[in-house]
Amino acid sequence: MVVYLDCAATAPVDSRVSKEVIKYTDYEFGNAGSRSHDFGNRAKSAVEKARSKVAKVVNANRGEIIFTSGATESNNLAILGLSDYGLKIGKNHIISTRIEHKSVLESLDILTNRGFKVTLLTPNSGGWIEPKTVINALQDNTLLVSVMQVNNETGVIQPIKAIASLLKQHGTYFHVDAAQGFGKEIKEITEKRIDMISLSGHKIYGPKGIGALVIRRRDGKRPPLVPLMYGGGQELGLRPGTLPVPLIVGLGKAAELSIKEALERNMQSLRFKKMALNRLSVLNPVFNGDLEKTVPQMINITFPGILADEAMEALNEIVAISNGSACTSTSDSCSHVLGSMGISQTQSLGALRLSWCHLTKHPDWDSFIEVIKKLQTEVH
Ligand code: PMP
Repeated sequence: MVVYLDCAATAPVDSRVSKEVIKYTDYEFGNAGSRSHDFGNRAKSAVEKARSKVAKVVNANRGEIIFTSGATESNNLAILGLSDYGLKIGKNHIISTRIEHKSVLESLDILTNRGFKVTLLTPNSGGWIEPKTVINALQDNTLLVSVMQVNNETGVIQPIKAIASLLKQHGTYFHVDAAQGFGKEIKEITEKRIDMISLSGHKIYGPKGIGALVIRRRDGKRPPLVPLMYGGGQELGLRPGTLPVPLIVGLGKAAELSIKEALERNMQSLRFKKMALNRLSVLNPVFNGDLEKTVPQMINITFPGILADEAMEALNEIVAISNGSACTSTSDSCSHVLGSMGISQTQSLGALRLSWCHLTKHPDWDSFIEVIKKLQTEVH
């Protein structure tokens, strides 16, 4: 049986979540915006309950959650949506990092074309951003700092709490793309200095196509965003359109379960990780990213002498994995993340991302090892 080791790409939906989703697709199908009957009222009440559940994970209030289609949209809204305000008050400098997801980097490219100055910080060789580099890059006209919580290629946790603490002396907005950490590494993003947080439902065993942007009030004021779309007025006017009630309810349930079960889930994932590392050690692997700083659910690993494409093909009856360096057929260049960490192209071409969750069963490690050993002997 092929074991799915690609939970960082997307995770299976928890059956308790699907049950809720189906209730709102098949029975409670009202429009949360309908005011003239109880179908609408019940839908609205379900949406508000889900909003509270999402808010609770990050220690926010219900009124600070904007439902979106996922972290990609949330990142776009946080960055592009703040830019009008920046231009109005003459702040056109943004700090972010070279290891961000493309939805952050490409939004920043748009702003560069509109006259913003963007400083992209380089991580250290372990794959994390040193907090002092953020502070050193700050300028009087810095509008926004955007740093991800957990890198999606390496699994390396970023020092968000330390950065938030250093930013207390500065008025800049602080955005965190928490797509990989929300509901898993909970403590760090409860920090009140973080103004905006992006998240996606499908990374925490919820449905795809739903996420949120948390917009925390600071001194009573929300970040002054403008919407990317217009018409309808939903979600404080920041994300108009009929609310996808079943997906929202599913996200709410997934968020609720994530807090209740985070500790147990992380312990289970950590046990998996220890076993995987123990078994794979015979292959003399090289780790891409500081292993000590990785989440319990992910590693990025290179088996010397083996290309990721070769390994994935040879392993495809045993595990479903992705190439950790995201060297895809549609792009010639290898991972911007591994490259920025100073990892050589050769090592990067061999990078495999293995990611799992608390539900993952161990693959047949003996066969896995045998396949890689065989490739290694063929190469040498
Ligand atoms: N940011 C990070 C760090 C991610 O890992 C992902 C998903 N790969 C996203 C943003 C985008 O999430 P979605 O595709 O759900 O919009």
